[in-house]
Amino acid sequence: MGAITLDKVEKWYGDLQVIKGIDLTIADGEFVVFVGPSGCGKSTLLRMIGGLEEISRGKLLIDGQDKTADPPSKRGLTMVFQSYALYPHMSVGENMGFSLKTAGAPKAEIKEKVDEAARVLKLEPYLDRRPKALSGGQRQRVAIGRSIVRDPTAFLFDEPLSNLDAALRVEMRYEIAKLHKTLARTMIYVTHDQVEAMTLADRIVVLEFGVIAQVGSPRELYERPANLFVAQFIGSPK
Ligand code: ADP
Ligand code: MG
Repeated sequence: MGAITLDKVEKWYGDLQVIKGIDLTIADGEFVVFVGPSGCGKSTLLRMIGGLEEISRGKLLIDGQDKTADPPSKRGLTMVFQSYALYPHMSVGENMGFSLKTAGAPKAEIKEKVDEAARVLKLEPYLDRRPKALSGGQRQRVAIGRSIVRDPTAFLFDEPLSNLDAALRVEMRYEIAKLHKTLARTMIYVTHDQVEAMTLADRIVVLEFGVIAQVGSPRELYERPANLFVAQFIGSPK
């Protein structure tokens, strides 16, 4: 579970083509990071995978099943954004369990899943508090916790740390790496931060205006950048 294939995926906004025939296979459990300059199409690509943006042409397969036209709820994926949009009137625990409650899950099951996610994210002491009583980093943890309880086959992150200050960003980066080890789930992570990309990724996908400039491990990209664009982006001495 959790293998994702993009087959000649394109995105058009009217006459403007922003994603230009992307072919990519992501293995189950892999941590893949999309990097590239602002406006190159990272969010669009991620949102097409998550189902928040229609795929204009091409196909999306999840575990070999064609999911191109499926709504987000039928893809088994979850998205974490930089703005965490927690419900202010609910406690941390209620925020984390809300999607399960909406889906009609039994109370005991919700509690079990929320407690487990809180344990993984070290949020146990905060379960009864309101989001406004938490720090930015803790709030982002709650947003991630909300995703974990849904037991997704893959996590999609769109610049989840860019609202945090530098020190917190480093701390949360380690948390996310640890989470990937613990959960062993596919993660697709968008960032424009090279350090985040280099430290988190099994493989990095460098996007350049809607096309893939290069795909490879951080080391491959650093040692053998395919062109000057990649070299400049990764910071390697080409
Ligand atoms: P990134 O996340 O890499 O910064 P985006 O995926 O947000 O880039 O945007 C890629 C391109 O698509 C940009 O040129 C952006 O202006 C354009 N774009 C994004 N969303 C829309 C939209 N809803 N309508 C028209 N153009 C859009
Ligand atoms: Mg973006």
